Amino acid sequence: MYWNREIETMERAALETLQLQRLQDTVLRVAQRVPFYQERFAAAGFTPDDLRSLADVRRLPFTTGADLRATYPAGLLAVPLDDAVRLHTSSGTTGKPKALYFSRQDVDHAAELIARCLVMSGMHAGDVLQNIMTYGLFTGALVMHYGAEKVGCLVIPAGPGNSERQLMLMQDFRTTAIHATPSYALYFADFLEKKGVDPRKELSLRRAFVGAEPYTEETRRKIEAALGLQVFNSYGLSEMNGPGVAFECPQQHGMHLWEDHFLLEIIHPETGDPVPDGEQGELVLTTLCREAMPLLRYRTRDITTVLPEPCACGRTHRRIQRIAGRSDDMLIARGVNFYPQQIESILMGMPALGRNYLIVLEGLDELTVKVELAEAGFDGQVEHLARLQSRIADSIRAELLVKPKVDLVPPGTLPVSEGKAKRVLDKRSL
Ligand code: ADP
Ligand code: ZN
Repeated sequence: MYWNREIETMERAALETLQLQRLQDTVLRVAQRVPFYQERFAAAGFTPDDLRSLADVRRLPFTTGADLRATYPAGLLAVPLDDAVRLHTSSGTTGKPKALYFSRQDVDHAAELIARCLVMSGMHAGDVLQNIMTYGLFTGALVMHYGAEKVGCLVIPAGPGNSERQLMLMQDFRTTAIHATPSYALYFADFLEKKGVDPRKELSLRRAFVGAEPYTEETRRKIEAALGLQVFNSYGLSEMNGPGVAFECPQQHGMHLWEDHFLLEIIHPETGDPVPDGEQGELVLTTLCREAMPLLRYRTRDITTVLPEPCACGRTHRRIQRIAGRSDDMLIARGVNFYPQQIESILMGMPALGRNYLIVLEGLDELTVKVELAEAGFDGQVEHLARLQSRIADSIRAELLVKPKVDLVPPGTLPVSEGKAKRVLDKRSL
């Protein structure tokens, strides 16, 4: 099923022609209207006429998160403020947040892209979507909300937390799909298990749209098994509308990135040079249709790979692989670089373990992995636990070449955060 068959299955050559037109138009508009880009273009000796092919995108300057903060609140607007109809921000962990403006057309486009994603997953009018993301300045909930309404779904703006109420809503309104972070989905699975609710018998859930933070294939399988539904990986970032940038089709092998709206590059995070297809690097995105706040070559910091082969579903928009991590999340201990997801992959593949973990770094690069036991795996037998502990430590050492200390803790004892999960506690920098 397609929401917009013509665009979703467009021939590559036609899609690339469309991309070039839209890129040229975007560059011309920012050159006329956005002083920030005017200065960057002048510094690089670039004029919009230099852009003759898609490959010329490399002549454009990058835009970074720091640029968004430095131009806060309205330095990157390309329309009069009166034409902006919505404001979102992206969480400012340090200092000012990033402010993102949407024109009416931008709001419509964001909903259109979500509609494509949901219909791609098999959703249709009549589905009931329980939206378990934070409503507010964050793009996650609202952008999904309006996209699902466009499809004709009944949308329940539940917001996160309060699992009792989530369950009641699911039962009373026969929720067929949820939109949640992976950490909340796992937490909710635990909650159902403790209450003795069998979702396959007592709920109508069929799909979960899971994103907003990195998670692994093993975590996906764990959520699917525990909730009895199919998980679709959903990728987005506030700087590019929020959710709806890239999304899995029923093949569940990489996420189609909507290339008529975003021009995609994968670069080496240190040199900025393009990496060959199939190699891992940082995702860089240029908006092709954005009115209020076009962004050129935005450095997402997300590490992924392009899957260039055509997809069996018939869509021609290329897929990106599950995000391996954020370049800012990369950890270094004893000279080894790794992402928290490499540890997660190992933990979530072990049935004796539960669904929450925490990576602690302290002292002279001491790495400790605290992980909850599964409800069933907690029989308290000391020699069992010792064997499990060394199995986990050995598996992690085989992957990272650093041997951690492993703490097995009872189910439900590690902290749970309402928004995005915090998986790493780095005490070295305190
Ligand atoms: P913030 O930067 O404040 O977390 P956003 O809410 O815009 O703001 O989050 C976007 C980021 O969330 C992405 O850049 C990416 O790192 C992460 N993210 C979103 N969806 C996924 C996903 N499906 N898999 C992995 N990471 C994701
Ligand atoms: Zn596909």
